[in-house]
Amino acid sequence: MEYKADALVLRAADYGENDRMVTLLTAGRGKIGAAMKGVRRAGAKLNFASQPFCFAEYVFAEREGRYTVTQAALHEGFYGLRGDIEKFYAGASVLEACDVFSGEGMESGALLVAAVETLNAIETEDGHTMSALVAFLLQTLRVSGYPVTAGDCPVCGKKIAGKLYFDMTSGAFTCGACAVGVPASRSTYETVSALSAGRECDPGDGQRRALRLLKAYISYLTDAPCRSLAELLAIV
Ligand SMILES: [Zn+2]
Repeated sequence: MEYKADALVLRAADYGENDRMVTLLTAGRGKIGAAMKGVRRAGAKLNFASQPFCFAEYVFAEREGRYTVTQAALHEGFYGLRGDIEKFYAGASVLEACDVFSGEGMESGALLVAAVETLNAIETEDGHTMSALVAFLLQTLRVSGYPVTAGDCPVCGKKIAGKLYFDMTSGAFTCGACAVGVPASRSTYETVSALSAGRECDPGDGQRRALRLLKAYISYLTDAPCRSLAELLAIV
C-alpha cells in the first residue's frame, strides 16, 4: 500500500550501515515512524528528507503497519534555524512539543499547521522567537486539552491583583489570597494573557518567565524532560 502525506520530521536516529529511522508528524495519522534506507550514503537523494525540521510531501510504502519512505518533495527545510542558536533551540522546542502532544493515529492537522507556521515565524522574523514559541506552546496545550487560563481567580472569582500563583492541576493562575499552586510573577501572567488572546506582549522578562512556567507545566503533565526548552532557557 502507498500512503502520501505532508509531514514534518520531529526526530531522526541512525541505524544499520546507511539507514535512518525518522519520526514524523502527519495531519491524518498523527505521529508515525518510518524507515529511510540508504539515506546516509554520500550523495543520497533523500538525505534532506531524513533531517529534523524537514517539512515535505512524503510517499510511504506501507506494509503490516510499517512505513518506508520511497519519495519526498521538499516544502521547507527551515535551514535558517541552524545558523542561530536561540532560533535553533526554539525550533527544536516546537518539534519536542509536537512529539510530546501527538500520538500514533491521532488527528493532528491543527498541530502540524501551527508547528510549520511557528517554525516559519521563528526562522524569518527576528525578535519574535520567544513570543512565537510561547504562543505555540499555549495553543498546543489548548488543543491537547490542557489550556492555560489567565483570567480572574477560578477559586474566589476575583480579579487577580498583587501576588499570584499558578495551579498545575487546573492550568490556571490563582490570586494571592487563595494561593493555590506555585508562586508566579505578574509579567508571566500578563504575557500568557496577551499571547493567549493573540495580542502582542512586551518583549523580555515576561516571555522568559512564561517559557519557564510552561516548561514546568508540560513536565508536570507529561513527565517529558523538555531538553530543548531547557537549553533555550539556559541561553536567553
Ligand atoms: Zn482567589
